Amino acid sequence: MANRDTADNQLNDYKKSVKDVPAVTTGFGTPIGTRDASETVGPRGPILLQDVHLLDELSHFDRERIPERVVHAKGAGAFGYFEVTHDITKYTAAKVFSEIGKRTPIAVRFSTVGGESGSADTVRDPRGFAVKFYTDDGIWDLVGNNTPIFFIRDPILFPSFIHTQKRNPQTHLKDADMFWDFISLRPETTHQVCFLFSDRGIPDGYRHMNGYGSHTFKLVNSKGQPVYCKFHYKTDQKIKNMDVNKAAHLSGADPDYSIRDLYNSIAKGDFPTWTFYIQVMTYEQAKTHKYNPFDLTKIWSHKEFPLIPVGKLVLDRNPSNYFAEVEQIAFSPAHLVPGIEASPDKMLQGRLFSYSDTHRHRLGANYLQLPVNCPYRVSTKNYQRDGPSTFTDNQGGAPNYYPNSFGGPAECPRAKKLMEIPEPLTGDVLRISSGDTEDNFSQVTDFWTKVLNEDERKRLVSNIAGHLSNASAFIQERAVKNFSKVHADFGRQLTEQLKLNKSSKM
Ligand code: NDP
Repeated sequence: MANRDTADNQLNDYKKSVKDVPAVTTGFGTPIGTRDASETVGPRGPILLQDVHLLDELSHFDRERIPERVVHAKGAGAFGYFEVTHDITKYTAAKVFSEIGKRTPIAVRFSTVGGESGSADTVRDPRGFAVKFYTDDGIWDLVGNNTPIFFIRDPILFPSFIHTQKRNPQTHLKDADMFWDFISLRPETTHQVCFLFSDRGIPDGYRHMNGYGSHTFKLVNSKGQPVYCKFHYKTDQKIKNMDVNKAAHLSGADPDYSIRDLYNSIAKGDFPTWTFYIQVMTYEQAKTHKYNPFDLTKIWSHKEFPLIPVGKLVLDRNPSNYFAEVEQIAFSPAHLVPGIEASPDKMLQGRLFSYSDTHRHRLGANYLQLPVNCPYRVSTKNYQRDGPSTFTDNQGGAPNYYPNSFGGPAECPRAKKLMEIPEPLTGDVLRISSGDTEDNFSQVTDFWTKVLNEDERKRLVSNIAGHLSNASAFIQERAVKNFSKVHADFGRQLTEQLKLNKSSKM
């Protein structure tokens, strides 16, 4: 039994916790006498249709899988709390931030993005870092990633972008042409592509990476005054990335490396934490800022918009059942609470629809009644009723229409004040293809020249070249042109590395 960690010993630990072994039952709760034999005519069969225990067993098994998430299928989850350490009530009246020392229960799901639910954890891919806050004003989901930006800025391109990360429709293989064709045709992807192929593209597990709400949100204070904001949650375990060779080895030797690392760390009481910050931009600053503050391919400079400390995320409990609490957990950027609102960020606007829509498909219309998803610290009172798998009291005898004269739930003046501030908007209704209408390169140039050191730049070039070499020559050329717009040295080094890779393959 040497070298067995806590995760390996889960079943032994469970056995120790069992005082009296319970009687096995059918799904409908009746005790079963013989559990290892179907009911047959004689020892050789056939089996009788009246064997309802077998029918119960097989028909439930046939329905065990729910649809896999289209993105973020492979993941790990944990629970804990958010604690306020600094007062930001001048910016927001959200109850989760109402006083220093206040704790709010949270659930977190980490994930890779492109691979299937059985894929390896140590691949080069963005990581999801979604936080569900069970606040006393309902659910707030911050459905973040480990990068402060994203590849595209218009959600109409999202399905196509994701298809390029998935499998070729004929070969069912990952396809470098699909990936680099899209990337090179859409120069706004360059910023995130450089993060992805930098050292941070393969974090060492989930504990050693930052999280970012990524989108621009709106905070509203108790006077109804709004500001724009971004959320950052920085690892207290320090950033740690994985060497590409080790990552490749672990993809085969321990494809569940990140799930195991998180589970064992929490099980042994080494609870991971993140320090939570906001950046704030006023409406006036947003109007005059040189970049579009709602462009998800861009960061807000730390110097211009310094990080303001807010609190701490602490994960101190493993899921007690993976399917119930992690596979079924359903985050949506549309789950916002009074004091925190959406901004015009187009990608956010698209996600406001798409996430809840997905959950209704994966889990059903009543996914918010599942224990891990329900706003259990408030009582849901509304005029929604029925639907598949309703397992609350369906709001009993309360009126199911609004308005009514019979004591049905009434409007909340506080929510009206915080969530319905007038937002003056004018403009022509149109479609603007945004690939080239914004500055796609200046921030990437800063990343190349000011953030990365020489060794990091070399690894970035080598990582890109290693992947790009597999694409067709004309796509490679187009990609190099984009990277040359970041910096001439970048384009030159990449061209040289691609040539070296080509000659070593011959
Ligand atoms: P800063 O020098 O204050 O910020 C640089 C930031 O870069 C660091 O704080 C760190 O973010 C992040 N970083 C370091 N290494 C990597 C990496 N390999 N991959 C991704 N991010 C990394 O300058 P600015 O705020 O003016 O930003 C300059 C450039 O830094 C930006 O154009 C952008 O490319 C990049 N950046 C900026 C972030 C921001 O929110 N301002 C966040 C991430 C990157 P962190 O502190 O969050 O760990």
